[in-house]
Amino acid sequence: MGRLRRSRVHNARRDVHRASRTRVRTRDLDQIQLIDLDPKNRAALEAQAVDYEKPGLAQHYCVECAKYYETDAALQSHWRSKVHKRRCKQLREPAYTIEESERAAGLGREGRRPTTVVGSSSEIMVDAA
Ligand SMILES: [Zn+2]
Repeated sequence: MGRLRRSRVHNARRDVHRASRTRVRTRDLDQIQLIDLDPKNRAALEAQAVDYEKPGLAQHYCVECAKYYETDAALQSHWRSKVHKRRCKQLREPAYTIEESERAAGLGREGRRPTTVVGSSSEIMVDAA
């Protein structure tokens, strides 16, 4: 068997990578960790109302992977799968927060950059007005 057809399969589609990215886009890990795994939100997600737009009428939802399943058996077998276990392991690590990104950029609390830049610019705005 030679090369499978990979060229000329995206007729008139300019950015196929973006299309595939946005189509399968699920919730990010920090969204799941900080919002969905909260016990109150988790209970709400696991007991969703019947939604005819979602797979399996939105009755079989994996909170960790932010994914809907068609049947209860599919969800059960997903919980035993490698994909789900890997995801749980990723979720056990602390989420990347805004504070951490600011620390990486040198804008954290231990940094000594003056925070009066915003205040002084607003004073200029007042003077101009
Ligand atoms: Zn899962």
